[in-house]
Amino acid sequence: MRADPRALRAPLIRWYRKHRRDLPWRRTTDPYAIWVSEAMLQQTTVAAVIPYWTRFLARFPNVAALAAATEEEVLALWTGLGYYSRARSLREGAIEVLKRYRGLVPADREALLALPGVGPYTAGAIASVAFGRPEPVVDGNVKRVFSRLFAMRGTGASHERKHWRIARALVEGPSPGDLNQSLMELGATVCTPRSPSCPRCPVAKACRARELGRQESFPPASIRKPVQDVRVAVAWIVRSGRILLERRHPESPLRGTWDLPATLVRNKDAGQALSHALRSRERLEASPGAPIATVRHTILATRLTIEIIPMRLKGLTPRTASLRWIEPGEIERIATSAATTKAVQAASSRSSSGSRGRVKRYDFPSIKGTAPKAQSSPAQ
Ligand code: SF4
Repeated sequence: MRADPRALRAPLIRWYRKHRRDLPWRRTTDPYAIWVSEAMLQQTTVAAVIPYWTRFLARFPNVAALAAATEEEVLALWTGLGYYSRARSLREGAIEVLKRYRGLVPADREALLALPGVGPYTAGAIASVAFGRPEPVVDGNVKRVFSRLFAMRGTGASHERKHWRIARALVEGPSPGDLNQSLMELGATVCTPRSPSCPRCPVAKACRARELGRQESFPPASIRKPVQDVRVAVAWIVRSGRILLERRHPESPLRGTWDLPATLVRNKDAGQALSHALRSRERLEASPGAPIATVRHTILATRLTIEIIPMRLKGLTPRTASLRWIEPGEIERIATSAATTKAVQAASSRSSSGSRGRVKRYDFPSIKGTAPKAQSSPAQ
């Protein structure tokens, strides 16, 4: 390591104040608003988050409002952002903050870390940006900047600790929030994974990777988990133009809150696998038709091949809160997985009668007494 991290502080902060993007959560020091932005930004781009953050803050302007909301209300505002566990944790965190801190987000890193869904990165971001505490942050952008500045090789826990040591050394001093944000901003806008814009970099003179002319060799390519191919069957059950969804189930390979009933298919017929899953999970008797479409979807290192199977219900739909009927157009307004959204679009277009948004009934007989209610709701 060549450059003294502390010598980088002043140019980084100067650069950040001049060149930072004008993002809505940067116009506030409200720790709750910053917490929401950090939760949303995990695994999601800034451009995608802006409208969600704005809507969320308008509906839940403070901890008390979020703590008073139902999980369903919170997830509805999160629909489309995915990774719904972040939304659940945020709400649980708000309940905890209301209970333990009278609705005031704590400034202390340890107290922040004790909140649901708050890890070292989020705790550091809230503590430094909202409260001006010298707490470090390390995320993917920051790691890339450090790897290049100091020509760092290696992976694993000891390497991770090295990043945090550098971040801690750097953050000590005035304006820790701006310092942390300068590193994240540099990684996001200048020191990008490919073709970093070194002439625009405020710390280019201190950069070892640049000196070596090997910026893109750092960080070393991570040892990626091999992609796993997984076969999934989803049930396409339609009555009176409505589609049956199932509340997220531990066995479901999809990652939404409400999804088409789904199951993994291992060495057996997809339709039979679905029939078995529906019977054991929901006490639904249904017989499968021929697959109507296949969609592909990747979740992290898992590549799903999803077969959409029309199913004919054989009896009454059981009264259960884990099933609900929806109109096809509703899929965009409820908390569901991207995989289910794709599957519904594919199946709807295959089975469309030609009128917009309607799903054609299959040739399955309608069963008396099982028609869904006029509004989407848990199945009756
Ligand atoms: Fe990244 Fe280039 Fe700056 Fe080095 S000089 S930190 S590679 S942008």
